[in-house]
Amino acid sequence: MAISDIREQVTTVRKGPPCEVCGALSTLPEGEADALRALLADPTVRYSTLSEALLADEDTKLDINEYTLSRHARGKCAARERLR
Ligand SMILES: [Zn+2]
Repeated sequence: MAISDIREQVTTVRKGPPCEVCGALSTLPEGEADALRALLADPTVRYSTLSEALLADEDTKLDINEYTLSRHARGKCAARERLR
């Protein structure tokens, strides 16, 4: 392997899977993205409950599991957005 190929390989490994919450926040209308962010920031909202509610939403159906929600809210994804 050429040394010039190493960077791409190393970078790919470090990046990991893209965060679905980040994806949703960037595609949702502004008001909806704000509402989702507020829910993620509210310590009284359980991630599991939120995950189910998002999946059940008829207008904006999102299939994001509780672990991904938690990861984003704790600032552990690439966005580093610490919400709770
Ligand atoms: Zn994220």
